[in-house]
Amino acid sequence: MPAGHFISYNSVMDGEFIAHEGAVFKRKPEGGYQAVVYCPGCGQAASSLDDVLCFYCPRCNWRSNFTGQQLPAVMKSLPDAGEDD
Ligand SMILES: [Zn+2]
Repeated sequence: MPAGHFISYNSVMDGEFIAHEGAVFKRKPEGGYQAVVYCPGCGQAASSLDDVLCFYCPRCNWRSNFTGQQLPAVMKSLPDAGEDD
């Protein structure tokens, strides 16, 4: 994955989106984050086939460096992740 291929959306600057582990996550208004991985290239939601593959954006040919199975652990490492620990 190319380094520095990061987000310049205004919403990132607003803190609604956050770059983490090479992917982008969106904060929920009530706190925490959506369990959705967004592509850092185009901002579209990426998907993980059967949770066993890395998240993938077909538009950008972007892949996350973690799988769907790893998503909960990745989300726990987000800043301010949470209420449940
Ligand atoms: Zn993309």
